[in-house]
Amino acid sequence: MEFTENECKQSAMPILKQVPVPTGDILVVQGERGKLELLSIGDYGKEVNLNRDTAVPDNLPLIPLERKWVITISTQYGCSMGCTFCDVPKVGKGINATLTDMQRQVIAGLQLHPNVTWSNRLNIHYARMGEPTFNPAVLDHARWLKDHIDPEYSVHPVVTTMCPRDNEWLKTFLHSWVRIKNRVFRGNAGLQLSINSTDESVRDKIFRKSALPLWKIATLLDGCVPVGRKFTLNFAVCEWPIEADVLLRYFDPERFLVKLTPMHETKAAHAHSHKTLGDYTNPQSYKAIQAQLEQAGYEVLVFVTSQDEDLSRITCGNAILSPQAAQPERVRSLPLRFTNELVTRAGHVI
Ligand code: SF4
Repeated sequence: MEFTENECKQSAMPILKQVPVPTGDILVVQGERGKLELLSIGDYGKEVNLNRDTAVPDNLPLIPLERKWVITISTQYGCSMGCTFCDVPKVGKGINATLTDMQRQVIAGLQLHPNVTWSNRLNIHYARMGEPTFNPAVLDHARWLKDHIDPEYSVHPVVTTMCPRDNEWLKTFLHSWVRIKNRVFRGNAGLQLSINSTDESVRDKIFRKSALPLWKIATLLDGCVPVGRKFTLNFAVCEWPIEADVLLRYFDPERFLVKLTPMHETKAAHAHSHKTLGDYTNPQSYKAIQAQLEQAGYEVLVFVTSQDEDLSRITCGNAILSPQAAQPERVRSLPLRFTNELVTRAGHVI
């Protein structure tokens, strides 16, 4: 997609800082209400990261952005949730980003690679700073993506939420999002619920009592049936209990799948001694939990990252805005390296 001069002017978002990390770039940008950060990264491909038996090494080439591109944007300035594994609350309390802020973040991410004018998959994750369900503009933003960005970049938007207790609009947001996933994007969108443990006392500690209990989350989604990928229950694998029996009480394997990821090594995670058991780059560390969940009937995705990916601060909760917050431990001095595979545009002759 090429932006006209006028569109560029309208979308201009001052870039205050650009941090090149091994698989992409973190941008700190000036929003309408302060500073925001976003992330643009390439991907090794699911053949490398997903459900493999071997560890994920560093220094792999990325698949072309025309095949997959991931842009993660902030939905709030800071966050008021205070999850103990996350650095974002150090930035400040959660104030909603505007629709324009979120539109401009996507355009700023795309303009990092002006030569990439289309993609067969652009994941837009509402998962950098903030709890997205507090911000109804996220819903408008997804509809804007469909109209303005999807035609060239095949957008796959994903909301990730820890399901906050004190959000009286949570049910409305979730049902609206499911409608967008099912109808606007015809299933080509995601809803991820950050559960992290099936033990409510542990969840109370790690979410500082700001997340709803599992039974309540399940109740909120009563009647929602996903088109496309099932609703995803996310677990950062740590010392926290994950019991398939408990999960089965609330979440039907017909509608929900489970995704296991490493506990990302944020400053906050270090401070609270939250750490993936075993070598987090190695799928073997997740096998016992995976087997237990699969036996219970769940489809399980094990998403293992390399150290490069993790230490580049790729996920929600790794703000660089605050002087006390985490800085990426891996920065990149060379240009991004891609495989030279030929990618054809799905549905188009090139
Ligand atoms: S993990 Fe998400 S919801 Fe929790 S404090 Fe961080 S940004 Fe907020």
